[in-house]
Amino acid sequence: MITAGLRQLARAMPPSARTRVHDMADRVLEPFGSVLKAARPTNLVALTFDDGPDPEVTPRILDLLQRRGVSASFFVLTDLAANHPDLIRRMVAEGHEVALHCDRHDRLTRMSRSEMGTRIRVAHELLEKIAGVPVTRFRPPFGAQNLSVIGVANRLGLETVVWAPSAFEWQERTAEAAAQRLLDTVKGGEIALLHDGFETPPGDPHPPFDRAELAERVIDGLERMGLRPTSVAHMIEAAGAKKTFWVRT
Ligand SMILES: [Zn+2]
Repeated sequence: MITAGLRQLARAMPPSARTRVHDMADRVLEPFGSVLKAARPTNLVALTFDDGPDPEVTPRILDLLQRRGVSASFFVLTDLAANHPDLIRRMVAEGHEVALHCDRHDRLTRMSRSEMGTRIRVAHELLEKIAGVPVTRFRPPFGAQNLSVIGVANRLGLETVVWAPSAFEWQERTAEAAAQRLLDTVKGGEIALLHDGFETPPGDPHPPFDRAELAERVIDGLERMGLRPTSVAHMIEAAGAKKTFWVRT
């Protein structure tokens, strides 16, 4: 494959040439690319919340965003959205971007092509019906996608969105530590990953801290750094989208 060849070539090169090869690969593969960050310098940072809606956490995050005058993108699971359509409609009414995670939190790369295609299509249709507005962005669970997944998303008019940095809520023990983890590396134009829902394997504990507190600490930290949190839609509108070729199993 082109990417494997380019990667092999890049490994044999000095770092500056390696960066050029990666940039070239990203350009060649642009049609299959996923949005990673803004294309132009900006002080905006996209805030994304995955795995919801959650009847306890999501309303508190929406209250916080409303209080702070911040918009965000929510990558939702439609099995949950179907049980809490009021939360999806509230997101839309309050100026947030509703985007698709999938129906449930499964790896799309580990199912048949036809099952994967059907599940994304049906979930997309359902989410548009609940939201009452077009849904144009998609992030596969675990960021797991291959060319087939990207192809299905493209055909459905869904732009795939990945992320960096993350708060690593499943590794950190306090909201303060998780916020710091994200704030330590974040730069203007990036797409930050947080969670309002949380899909852990059966039996695994949920994060032991308040995720609304984490979101507030992240917003406070970004503002202290002169960065402005917003939705993916708004950041792309203001500063364009830099895509990267992202394939994960
Ligand atoms: Zn997820």
